[in-house]
Amino acid sequence: MSRFWSPLTHGLKPYVPGEQPRLPDLVKLNTNESPMGPSPRALEAIRAETNESLRLYPDPQSTVLRQALAAYHGVAVEQVFVGNGSDEVLAHAFAALLNQDGPLLFPDVTYSFYPVYCRLFGIAFETVPLDEGLRVRIADYRRPCGAVIVANPNAPTGVALGRAEIAALAAEHVETPVVIDEAYVDFGAETAIPLIGDHPNLLVVRTFSKSRALAGLRVGYAIGDAALIEGLTRVKDSFNSYPLGRTAQAGAVASITDEAHFQAGLAAIAGWRARLSDGLAAHGFEAPRSSANFVFARHPGHDAAGLAAAVRERGVLVRHFAAPRVDQHLRITVGDAAQIDRLFAALDEILGA
Ligand SMILES: *Cc1c(COP(=O)(O)O)cnc(C)c1O
Repeated sequence: MSRFWSPLTHGLKPYVPGEQPRLPDLVKLNTNESPMGPSPRALEAIRAETNESLRLYPDPQSTVLRQALAAYHGVAVEQVFVGNGSDEVLAHAFAALLNQDGPLLFPDVTYSFYPVYCRLFGIAFETVPLDEGLRVRIADYRRPCGAVIVANPNAPTGVALGRAEIAALAAEHVETPVVIDEAYVDFGAETAIPLIGDHPNLLVVRTFSKSRALAGLRVGYAIGDAALIEGLTRVKDSFNSYPLGRTAQAGAVASITDEAHFQAGLAAIAGWRARLSDGLAAHGFEAPRSSANFVFARHPGHDAAGLAAAVRERGVLVRHFAAPRVDQHLRITVGDAAQIDRLFAALDEILGA
């Protein structure tokens, strides 16, 4: 707190990321990072870019990366925007598209960055409750609003909507922007990207952080109608012309070309997700079916905050949100088999199995 802060700064409630402690032998199942390494091609491209050219500014439009993403997703380069992680892409979407006269709608249980951006940009919002199965119900969004944002699969629940439901959501809000945050879509949900041609109000936001195991590189992107992308670019060029460094652009391009590594990683994580889900059920947990790289589980007989603290004492980090409706759940990232077994060993001790 300082008297030198602006009134805006006094009013902010910043997002609190999952902890990143530097302890050896810690099993990190708290921030949805990938247990797989990034593509070796990406690492090689980053190394190759680490040279004297770093004295020069990068391409401000990230043209080569946007071309690669356009080809990959079968869209035009004018329909692709890139940013410094999808958090930055989302921030620009809040400023460029979601700051309308009516309130912004999003689920009551979702990515906790959304209300943070609303405060930063002065956007009024209304939350829409998930149903008893922790599902987003499209019909509940039929009300006057200025814009809509939904994560699909939702976080931290892992529950996904089908493409037809996203199409219905976009069609029921033709006059307002609809943003779909697809941070986890590669792990088992349907992307809305094929819908953008028919829905000029639809923006799909993606990241290299989760399914491409490049959280440390900070690359995110958005796909949508060229006019939406132009709006994002106007905000970006009013904020930071060079959001992606040379190494980030090169690494992301190489990652996109390594489909075999990408698919192998997704297959491995799907297998480990089944191991995690089955083992949690065997330990008495309940969880909705996850389409993401985490499982959102509660134990009917044990307080979630207490369980998070107890597994932490045993060297395993999971995420607990001290928020209404979710404070009895734990969000547990799908680690590799050895990490999952460390969690189960900790739970055996705690639950006395
Ligand atoms: C992780 C995450 C992001 C942001 O990831 P970046 O690392 O900033 O690309 C965005 N949305 C959701 C729902 C996430 O979980």
